[in-house]
Amino acid sequence: MKVGILGAGQLGRMLALAGYPLDFDFVFLDPATEACAAPLGTHIHADYVDERALAEFCVAVDVATYEFENVPAKTAEFVAARIPLLPAPVALSVGQDRLSEKSLFDKLGIPVPRYMPVATREALDFAVKNIGLPAVLKTRRLGYDGKGQAVLKKPGDLDAAWARLGGQPLILEAFVPFERELSCLAVRGKDGEMRFYPVVENVHRDGILRTATPKADDPLQKDAEDYARRVCAHLGYVGVLAFEFFVAGGSTGGKLLANEIAPRVHNSGHWTIEGAVCSQFENHLRAIAGLPLGSTALRGLSVMVNFIGDTPKNEALAAIPGVHIHHYGKTPKPQRKVGHATVTADDAAALAERLARLQTLVAAAES
Ligand code: AMP
Repeated sequence: MKVGILGAGQLGRMLALAGYPLDFDFVFLDPATEACAAPLGTHIHADYVDERALAEFCVAVDVATYEFENVPAKTAEFVAARIPLLPAPVALSVGQDRLSEKSLFDKLGIPVPRYMPVATREALDFAVKNIGLPAVLKTRRLGYDGKGQAVLKKPGDLDAAWARLGGQPLILEAFVPFERELSCLAVRGKDGEMRFYPVVENVHRDGILRTATPKADDPLQKDAEDYARRVCAHLGYVGVLAFEFFVAGGSTGGKLLANEIAPRVHNSGHWTIEGAVCSQFENHLRAIAGLPLGSTALRGLSVMVNFIGDTPKNEALAAIPGVHIHHYGKTPKPQRKVGHATVTADDAAALAERLARLQTLVAAAES
């Protein structure tokens, strides 16, 4: 089967790495010259709105998907009119706009932080009056890894935030003093069957994911699955969906507040390559190809650590027992995700010791 992927970054690269054993071939469409999935398939090097290139892409593949969520809606519609594109473009358009996302969560009875759309400077004052401070001002579209956001702590912060972000559709959200951040990776097949990985505890710094740790038997697993199920059923979703949550504190042990969804495989699911029976990448491919889904059960303990800016040397990494190294083939650059490693272990003490060694190497490479 020929799988077309819109985008050719590291997610596309890992999809291809999971797909070759299943006898799948890959065609990527991506405007970037340095597209790190390109060596793993045919790379159509063209803009997302280049209809000739898109037509060539559609003719070359049996089914298409995305690995980049900011693919223009028009591109998705063009492709979906010609070949199966999964998940359907509606999931992409909802996920691209923080306001549509939050409205959908509201409609489906999924708790969210308080929010208001902001289009003008006056609307920002009005929203701050209603929501209070601290709050987070975000661009509705095209934000990622904490880009396009400003935390407003005091009234004096509004002007600077507006000067930086104003002039485009924005959303103001209540700042959530969260205890933890969790994500739920769900996969839904063409027949509507769903499977869920154990929820993942995520640690971000400067808005960028640093570590992701799957949690067996988390008390919030059931709620996370319930919310992901509602969203997937509503969207007629096929493939892997990542759902990110804040855990707001409370005497009851915490409650989930929905932050955002990503209609694709996700950085918080990279540990599934070695830490789960069937990885998020293979399960996404199985879903869009109409194959039975694989088991989402854990294979043991694991933690994923991102390489941000630069990568530690293989010699040092490989000396850590239970380490699994993933370089993305990207040019090092500050704040850029250039690879990750997952450490696995049979017991918590070994995992902690291996993780500490890994984090020391990652911190040294970054500085
Ligand atoms: P996002 O792009 O919305 O995923 O935001 C990136 C990171 O910024 C999140 O993972 C949080 O760590 C932080 N953040 C975003 N929104 C909020 C919020 N409303 N309250 C507290 N922290 C937030």
